[in-house]
Amino acid sequence: MTQKFDVVVIGAGPGGYVAAIKAAQLGLKTACIEKYQDKEGKAALGGTCLNVGCIPSKALLDSSWKYHEAHEGFAIHGIEAKSVTIDVPAMIGRKANIVKNLTGGVATLFKANGVTLLEGHGKLLANKQVEVTGSDGKTQIVEAGSVILASGSKPIDIPPAPVDQDVIVDSTGALEFQSVPKKLGVIGAGVIGLELGSVWARLGAEVTVLEALDKFLPAADEQIAKEALKTFTKQGLKIRLGARVTGSEVKKKQVTVNFTDAEGEQKIVFDKLIVAVGRRPVTTDLLAADSGVDMDERGFIFVDDQCATSVPGVYAIGDVVRGAMLAHKASEEGIMVAERIAGHKAQMNYDLIPSVIYTHPEIAWVGKTEQQLKTEGVAVNVGTFPFAASGRAMAANDTGGMVKVIADAATDRVLGVHVIGPSAAELVQQGAIGMEFGTSAEDLGMMVFSHPTLSEALHEAALAVNGHAIHIANRKKR
Ligand code: FAD
Ligand code: AMP
Repeated sequence: MTQKFDVVVIGAGPGGYVAAIKAAQLGLKTACIEKYQDKEGKAALGGTCLNVGCIPSKALLDSSWKYHEAHEGFAIHGIEAKSVTIDVPAMIGRKANIVKNLTGGVATLFKANGVTLLEGHGKLLANKQVEVTGSDGKTQIVEAGSVILASGSKPIDIPPAPVDQDVIVDSTGALEFQSVPKKLGVIGAGVIGLELGSVWARLGAEVTVLEALDKFLPAADEQIAKEALKTFTKQGLKIRLGARVTGSEVKKKQVTVNFTDAEGEQKIVFDKLIVAVGRRPVTTDLLAADSGVDMDERGFIFVDDQCATSVPGVYAIGDVVRGAMLAHKASEEGIMVAERIAGHKAQMNYDLIPSVIYTHPEIAWVGKTEQQLKTEGVAVNVGTFPFAASGRAMAANDTGGMVKVIADAATDRVLGVHVIGPSAAELVQQGAIGMEFGTSAEDLGMMVFSHPTLSEALHEAALAVNGHAIHIANRKKR
């Protein structure tokens, strides 16, 4: 007999699993279909984020930072740690345990909330029927009141550097190296390339990042991007802008990468090469020809601002639709859609999705850059505060970077918060909370911030917007 559900979700990444839990919490009979299996062949929930994305990359970033600090950062505190060594398989093993805990946690949450897990590949047919094909090839059809497509994304391959997951790897392979490559190449200076390049650089690899664009971090505020490039270069990351990879050859466990830059044709030999040139939506065998769901010209499922597709009752969320490929964006879309299916009028504020790059220093921002606002013709006041003037940052010996607050010159409303420096992600979130409630720079400046905290840098940058900073000379007075 055909099983019937109020909601069927395809994909259990941070978009799909959150949507399924929320729908069940709202009293809807919910199933979630997931095909991903771990190395032991067991169903693993959590999608890219928990299995091969946000969490494992942050686990390795944290481990590698500790090693790097022991080598480079302890001496100034009077701590000698000369004989610190590294056990890469143990580091990778710790990461695997975290992944296992978290993916198992999602399974527990499904049980606790009454979400039915259907293991296998989901395909949307006509009339909101969904075909589920198990790993044994057996199929079943389920009927849904509403369907949420949350099939996510996967790494983009480029013909000049075909991934073999041995010498040339994608982001997934770069989380599994069993030793530190001596010379590591990274194609793409995006978030993933910079984070994974940082992991292995901290552990001792000589890292070269090849980026086709002439501009570094084009989505970030220019002042922050400039500071980032300066800092990473000082740290020893070789970032080559305007370098387009045109070919590669693997021989004897090494890869020769050919690229062109302003000086002509170049080549470098690496022990490993990470291809991190972006991600593309996963829609393979997801939609039957008569499902009626439209795609946009780039292969993303076409949705409106509320994530409704071209078929009534069918929604799509996360990396498989337009917008930033971020776990928190996917999850919030999942919640919005579950709420709307349950009859509530949920909306999502797409203007306030924070972006974070978990390098050291961290880079994070929310809202608009100074350049975007200039292009839009909005007059702004800008306040910055360097961590070099923060007592808390000095105590931690982590004084690189700054907080930048941008406010509307006419209304003082905060339009952007940009941070490069320690705990940038957490500081930007404070800005995002304020901005969601329409804070002015003056409001932030009037609040009491604990001392000594890194957050005081946000306070001072907000004060600096109108020339009222205390712990730094103001550029202008009012
Ligand atoms: P996914 O997480 O990709 O999940 C989709 C799921 O659907 C998968 O489990 C897949 O197996 C399943 N699926 C697909 N098709 C079918 C089908 N037909 N039937 C059944 N199941 C199917 N984002 C951040 O916000 N912060 C970070 O720090 C961050 N770090 C990252 C680091 C790396 C190395 C990578 C690769 C990504 C990172 N991301 C980060 C991005 C983040 O992982 C994604 O934006 C997020 O996982 C998208 O969620 P999703 O639910 O849309 O899709
Ligand atoms: P992101 O999409 O943020 O992950 O960034 C991927 C980066 O890879 C972009 O900045 C692209 O410009 C870059 N890129 C794409 N193809 C190539 C190539 N063939 N050589 C060098 N860089 C590339």
